Amino acid sequence: MSKVRVRYAPSPTGPQHVGGIRTALYNYLFAKKLGGDVVLRIEDTDEKRFVEGAEQYIIESIKWCGFDFDEGVHKGGPFGPYKQSERKDIYLKYSQQLIDDGKAYYAFDTSDELHVKRVAFEKEKKNFKYDFSTRDSMRNSLVLSDDEVQNLLNKDVPYTVRFKIEPDNIIVVDDMVRGEVRFNSSELDDKIIFKSDGMPTYHLANIVDDHLMEISHVIRGEEWLPSAPLHVAIYEAFGWNSPKFAHLPLLLKPTGKGKLSKRDGDAGGFPVFPLEWKDQQTGDISKGYREEGYYPEAFLNIMAFLGWNPGTEQEMFSLSELIQTFDIQKVNKSGAKFDPDKAKWYNQQYLVRKSDDEIVHDLRADLAKRGIETSINLSSVVRQMKERIVFVKDIYSSAQYFFESPTVFDPKTVKKKWKDNSAEIVTDIAAVFDKIVDFRADNLEASFKKYLEEKELGFGIAMIALRLSITGKGGGPSLFEIAEIIGKNETLKRLKENPEKILDLKA
Ligand code: GLU
Repeated sequence: MSKVRVRYAPSPTGPQHVGGIRTALYNYLFAKKLGGDVVLRIEDTDEKRFVEGAEQYIIESIKWCGFDFDEGVHKGGPFGPYKQSERKDIYLKYSQQLIDDGKAYYAFDTSDELHVKRVAFEKEKKNFKYDFSTRDSMRNSLVLSDDEVQNLLNKDVPYTVRFKIEPDNIIVVDDMVRGEVRFNSSELDDKIIFKSDGMPTYHLANIVDDHLMEISHVIRGEEWLPSAPLHVAIYEAFGWNSPKFAHLPLLLKPTGKGKLSKRDGDAGGFPVFPLEWKDQQTGDISKGYREEGYYPEAFLNIMAFLGWNPGTEQEMFSLSELIQTFDIQKVNKSGAKFDPDKAKWYNQQYLVRKSDDEIVHDLRADLAKRGIETSINLSSVVRQMKERIVFVKDIYSSAQYFFESPTVFDPKTVKKKWKDNSAEIVTDIAAVFDKIVDFRADNLEASFKKYLEEKELGFGIAMIALRLSITGKGGGPSLFEIAEIIGKNETLKRLKENPEKILDLKA
């Protein structure tokens, strides 16, 4: 078998959605398992849809995920250039070849003429298709004489080049996920392959490049399956071998109904983009996994499982394990439901496996971003919080009390659990704690218990009064550990000042 070469071929029309990253990853895993190469090619033939920064976004996203391409627009290689706008001359030559061979033709129909046709068809409740059944009634080089065509070309009359699909053929697309998919060529229309602006359309450029770049396998999203028979027909027209295909399943909304879109992410509070993206025109920000606090390792697993699973119990894979285990035959045909809870689960799993030092490092950065200065022992904070969070940023958002005295006291807990004697208990305990020299959690707990015994008080009410005064919350890690971490001065200060604020709330 010749060398495995695959490509990821995005169009720079905006930020890459998770579906694009999944495609890039599957290409990478497939190629690496077989010792092949992965190419990053930028398909920017549609100038109207070009978006500044989109190419850089793709490169940065992949880098963040922790893998890379062997060749491509960002690093060159033997099959460059890797950007279609830099390969215009190549396509012109191949378009001409198809015309010369009678496999494609010039079409001079103006958009007005096409519109008139469409309207006429609609009147008869039919859909207009530029195909074998209509092309003879259009203004193209199949109908016009050679002289007329030459004349129009000489006069620079705008034209497109259309690929001539012969009817009544069965076109077989050999798909590694779906098996042989058969299409009747009579269903296809004569697609434009070259435009009068001197640019090829996606279909021509994509095939010419895949051929010249010696791509052996085309792995891409299911939305391209309807184009596959045209692509196979173009390969045949050139007399080239068609690569093998794999069309990956669509990504579906968490409900499983319909395609996953940016709006689903906004509504469900989860990102559908790897990195944050700011729309230059509207200023709209789309959330990114990176900025939300996901680890790239977790993101990689989330992506890998969108339409594939190893058929074993194992759920967490390193990149090299993914390479070993990935099998394109095991990719599902049916759509892959996006599960935002599972995404969080992955992050949590990776987080608990991180060293405390690494989390401390990230926590420090998170606090600095928030302008929080603190001298408390952050390793102790991390030890208390690690099992309770999904993201490092959750430490601050769910346990702000480590860094600042609470200003909000959970109203439900106050209402239910703050009793008439609670303030007095807190004052008493403050006095008990004041006497402790070695302000450690176990000492605090022992004195607290002793106090309860002496006063013949139950654990619950006293504990919750203390917790509310120190943290403002009804639950959380061991209160004595929290007190040790924030220190004696801060603990006593809160025990003295906060009951009054709670009483205000009660009043
Ligand atoms: N440029 C196409 C896209 O944006 C590539 C499709 C393909 O891989 O053939 O997805």
